[in-house]
Amino acid sequence: MRAMMLDVPRRPLRAVDISRPEPGPGQVLLAVAACGVCRTDLHVLDGELPNPTLPLILGHEIVGTVTATGGGPGVDRFGIGDRVGVPWLGWSCGECRYCRSGRENLCDRARFTGYQINGGYAEYAVADARFCFPLPDQYADLEAAPLLCAGLIGYRSLVAAGEAERLGLYGFGAAAHIVAQVARHQGRRVFAFTRAGDRDAQRFALGLGAEWAGTSDAPPPEPLDAAIIFAPAGPLVPAALRAVVKGGTVVCAGIHMSDIPAFPYDVLWGERTLRSVANLTRKDGTEFLALAPRVPVRTEIEPHPLERANEALERLRAGKVKGAAVLTIAD
Ligand SMILES: [Zn+2]
Ligand SMILES: [Zn+2]
Repeated sequence: MRAMMLDVPRRPLRAVDISRPEPGPGQVLLAVAACGVCRTDLHVLDGELPNPTLPLILGHEIVGTVTATGGGPGVDRFGIGDRVGVPWLGWSCGECRYCRSGRENLCDRARFTGYQINGGYAEYAVADARFCFPLPDQYADLEAAPLLCAGLIGYRSLVAAGEAERLGLYGFGAAAHIVAQVARHQGRRVFAFTRAGDRDAQRFALGLGAEWAGTSDAPPPEPLDAAIIFAPAGPLVPAALRAVVKGGTVVCAGIHMSDIPAFPYDVLWGERTLRSVANLTRKDGTEFLALAPRVPVRTEIEPHPLERANEALERLRAGKVKGAAVLTIAD
């Protein structure tokens, strides 16, 4: 099968032709139709996340069709020909204190797709059937892919932001463009923050229902009740804390961020909450994939052929992608 392989971090992915993986017990073999390109893929590529399994196939927003199953527990959830989605959380132990308390996203032994488990930058992938999702029929393969991380993590972040009416979104990429639609559906007011001078992203945000869009180093036109930071830039943390009212919440949604500069205690004072969101639970996925077609969330995608994965990643790094980049794999 064709795949794009990461041999070592900080080198471009390499187009390879390797043998198709075999599904083990509890696993399904998927013919991959599309795979989203996520900011986390860049962090793995850049060596910013520790101990990836190498060599590695990136990609954790996989849309594929079941072509074989490995037998064993759980695989009967899906039949041959079913379309499923594979997210970032690829396996959790089910036994640790986190797993037993509904927090499998924090599992001590969790394994992640496209990080410790080969992902979807390939013609075929295997996945633990218990961690795959059926996908809503309304979405074509390419449009469904960004729901699986940008959508799921965005949704978890939105829940973590609480009941906020005035919601700030810092970094208007794949996740924010989905969250903005859900937030509007819920009757919230959305304020979008982009890189300085990024008029395209600001127009994009306004087109998705944001009532204001501006630069992340400037204050919003009125105080916010909560903010979600999607951009991996530590200086946004004190900026967002300054933008929220007393009792407000700032959620850091990314898996990696540059260092947060020192800030005076009074930007946190007043019972402001600063928290991160890590990974996802299957419950998040089930809830969000039921909600998305009801909003309805529309995903804006920029397709790239599998072999152009490096270009897609560099466009993401440069902030040039409108919405979400998605690799097209099957025709
Ligand atoms: Zn992701
Ligand atoms: Zn666990």
